[in-house]
Amino acid sequence: MGKQFANVIVDISHERVDRPFQYRVPDRLQGKVCAGSPVLVPFGAGNRLRKGYVVELTDQADFDPARIKELADLDENGYNAASQLISLAWWMKERYGSTMNQALKTVLPVKEKIRPAEKRTIRSCLSKEELSDRRALWEKKHYRARARLFSALEDMGEIPYELAVKQLKLAPAALRTMEEKGWIMVEREAVYRNPVKENGEKSSGVNLNREQREAAEAFCRDYRSGKPGTYLLYGITGSGKTEVYMEMMEEVLRDGKQVIVLIPEIALTYQTVLRFYRRFGRSVSVINSRLSKGERYDQFERARKGEIQVMIGPRSALFTPFEHLGLIVIDEEQEGAYKSELAPRYHARDVAARRAAMAGAGLVLGSATPSLEAYSRAVRGEYRLLTLTERAKKDSRLAQTEIVDLREELRAGNRSVFSRRLTELMEDRLRKGEQIMLFMNRRGYSSFVSCRACGEAMKCPHCDVSLTYHRNGRLKCHYCGYEIPMPDRCPSCGSPYIAGFGTGTQKIEEMTKKCFPQARILRMDTDTTGGKDGHEEILSSFAEGEADILVGTQMIVKGHDFPRVTLVGVLAADLSLNAPDYACGERTFQLLTQAAGRAGRGEAAGNVVIQTYMPEHYSIQAAARQDYKEFYEKEMAYRRMLRYPPAMGLLVVQAASADEEEVIRAGERIRLTAEQAGKDGAVQVPPEITGPLDASVYKVNDIYRKILYIKHENYDILLRIRKKIEELELPAMLSYDLQ
Ligand code: ADP
Ligand code: ZN
Ligand code: ZN
Repeated sequence: MGKQFANVIVDISHERVDRPFQYRVPDRLQGKVCAGSPVLVPFGAGNRLRKGYVVELTDQADFDPARIKELADLDENGYNAASQLISLAWWMKERYGSTMNQALKTVLPVKEKIRPAEKRTIRSCLSKEELSDRRALWEKKHYRARARLFSALEDMGEIPYELAVKQLKLAPAALRTMEEKGWIMVEREAVYRNPVKENGEKSSGVNLNREQREAAEAFCRDYRSGKPGTYLLYGITGSGKTEVYMEMMEEVLRDGKQVIVLIPEIALTYQTVLRFYRRFGRSVSVINSRLSKGERYDQFERARKGEIQVMIGPRSALFTPFEHLGLIVIDEEQEGAYKSELAPRYHARDVAARRAAMAGAGLVLGSATPSLEAYSRAVRGEYRLLTLTERAKKDSRLAQTEIVDLREELRAGNRSVFSRRLTELMEDRLRKGEQIMLFMNRRGYSSFVSCRACGEAMKCPHCDVSLTYHRNGRLKCHYCGYEIPMPDRCPSCGSPYIAGFGTGTQKIEEMTKKCFPQARILRMDTDTTGGKDGHEEILSSFAEGEADILVGTQMIVKGHDFPRVTLVGVLAADLSLNAPDYACGERTFQLLTQAAGRAGRGEAAGNVVIQTYMPEHYSIQAAARQDYKEFYEKEMAYRRMLRYPPAMGLLVVQAASADEEEVIRAGERIRLTAEQAGKDGAVQVPPEITGPLDASVYKVNDIYRKILYIKHENYDILLRIRKKIEELELPAMLSYDLQ
């Protein structure tokens, strides 16, 4: 017997999901409707028929069952992107354990009325020579945005106004001035046309090398035969993965279908966006977190109406309402940003696979350092593996990487953060006028303050974590924002001997200044990039040679191409190796490999120096050799031995409450429930349960948190256990993370 009632929304938007209308499912529609089904419902006093979508089926009547109207019919012609997305939301709720509302709010657009955007285009009124002369002049004056605009105009003759403002960061006032001077023309138009095609300036891409061609062809063949699958494109840094994506996209677009390209926000720079724009012209649209809700809604509407064919953006671009989706590309699939930290805690990789399957589209995952998850699936044959083993540009070679043992440095009496070898290479590069990147795995790591007399560290009273010392003389909690001035005496023992330890990026910047006073230094971390466009500004001024040394966190290893960088120094590779979670070896390998991939992109040979206290660790060894296979084998063996994903499924349950008693009781109940569900006759092997444990930070904002880890080889059993826990309806707040 199916569920009796259907909750229906008649207006597709994020805001309406809280107020669905309930209808009775008549017998003749039983089994035919599900979440996402387009239906016709009698609406309002006159019972006029309206179109709507079922968002959930239930047996629970929201009000007097006698007064609940019946669904009129299934709207057979109503299947569209919205119904697919709602059905996707339902799948996400089941898979990740959120409420249906949370899932719907993730997939449906936030509706915001804005003035329909007028399509504006910037056209050049100058000859190519004039453009090029002006660009050179502006580069000299460091008018970066203008130089970028003219460089784009030199290439293409015209670009969309939005792109100039949002991606190239031109101020509208500057554009007006240029227009008044008669250098450019801003055209306003209502009708859509593709001028890039018309004047034939669209670039058709490079000539793919053999490996690239084979990879693209593998997808295109399957696509043409109507059976596109899931592919893992594993290609070393600089092997030309983006060119391969574009070739695949070309095939799909020719067929009249649409494409979503996910790129981590941090790598979504104007350089990247322009590459896609050059190739596909105005059919491309970009979303990022800088867009307002209204602007984002506008882009999604254009996608729905078929005005654009390619959407590029971070995780949320996955929910672009394309009606004829043919391909989803996820670049840098290993990136942590593809996993949502809010319920539903979904991973874009899996949701993309689901959406692609629903739409009959292909899915291509790309990476130079694939996640264990993706690579193990490729090994098992679930994904088709496509490989690029060589750098695409003839003259570019992988950098030479060496590992420096910091224990040796200390023994030799060197207490500086720079090893002797790194110092020597830095002096050499500064002399030659080449660029250097210095890389710290974590921001402000261990820059905590403690008392030398009693050993007490200064902690946040709400969160149970160390406060971080900032140069403005204040101590800050990175979890809740709590902030106090640096005390001059220890609050526990009154001793005046309190001091900061460890090295953050700020400290490194200061030490670099001291050791290399002649060098121009830029720093980039989340503190310096607080402004909306901060990180792109710092990266482009470095790319344009305005500094010799860039100091930063992992942010600096992504996105931009830096042809003048010939030395990369990783100051303390151990910081990320000592993080308290099972994936830290994987993350370290990825970071080091990416960092190493930054050196030697141009013509000059590159060097990479990795400083560490654990030189024999396989993550460091394999990264130094750029040997993914070796890393994969060792890491997989470790995961199998300790029974971690992807060798096992892992369900993390967190209970939280302001009442400590309550959270302790909840933890016990969850454990019992999981044990019982594991004894169920159908379950052959019982799950392994750890906990309840205190969360790594037990108290945040005065809320106590307990964690349980439940492991099993079979995901379905974990899903069943989660259902049982959900049915407990405990007074604590529960959240789930299925890995
Ligand atoms: P990845 O995404 O794998 O890091 P990219 O696609 O960014 O690599 O390519 C790296 C560089 O090599 C880019 O400047 C790109 O234009 C160039 N490139 C890619 N494929 C080719 C090719 N077949 N011939 C010449 N240059 C290429
Ligand atoms: Zn003290
Ligand atoms: Zn705090």
